[in-house]
Amino acid sequence: MSFEKKRKQLVEHLKKEGRIKTEKVEKAFLETPREFFVPDTLKNYAYVDTPLEIGMGQTISAPHMVAIMCEALDLHEKQRILEIGAGSGYHAAVVSKIVGEKGHVYSIERIKELVDFAKENIEKAGIKNVTIIEGDGSEGLPEYAPYDRIYVTCAAPDIPPPLIEQLKNSGKLLIPIGRTICELILLEKKDDKIKTTNLGGCAFVPLLGKYGHQSL
Ligand code: SAM
Repeated sequence: MSFEKKRKQLVEHLKKEGRIKTEKVEKAFLETPREFFVPDTLKNYAYVDTPLEIGMGQTISAPHMVAIMCEALDLHEKQRILEIGAGSGYHAAVVSKIVGEKGHVYSIERIKELVDFAKENIEKAGIKNVTIIEGDGSEGLPEYAPYDRIYVTCAAPDIPPPLIEQLKNSGKLLIPIGRTICELILLEKKDDKIKTTNLGGCAFVPLLGKYGHQSL
């Protein structure tokens, strides 16, 4: 079966499960070739709804988790987005399709090998509105702040204060809190008031760095 057909089947599955709820997220999934973002040896598993190893002890998130996070963030065209934890670049690629050419995704990754992997994959997919940067994302990325949306793809001990500071008024921040087994927290900032909602349990590799866990 072709990758395109497998992609369509996965999208149907994610819709049936209630993970993909909106047309814009469905369209972004259909336009993003996950097979470009996994190691060659795992390409046949690119459309299985599971995380996959991408090297350096890290994983590309499961498609259902990418869908849940895209829907929860309520993404729109032209938005400026910050992602912490680029990994393979897949999640950033999906988000880039939703924010469109006039929007931009900045993604920070702490592991140099994965920075190179994500950059290569983004280029292969012909995506121009994603910038992958090497660094400690627990401190955010002040250079391009403030952001309409910030999301973290690894589990933090707590919400790093710089991420709240770098969020626009009326912005949304999505972050797994815990260690491996964690809870997905949505933070909304409105006129300097902060509201948080627990969206439920999830599993992520740990966020390291200044405001992260101190070891793997
Ligand atoms: N979004 C990715 C994708 O689509 O492939 C999956 C990301 S993976 C689950 C989490 C990533 O967060 C790992 O690549 C890990 O190296 C990275 N990470 C952990 N702590 C970090 C930090 N302080 N700054 C930046 N990246 C970090």
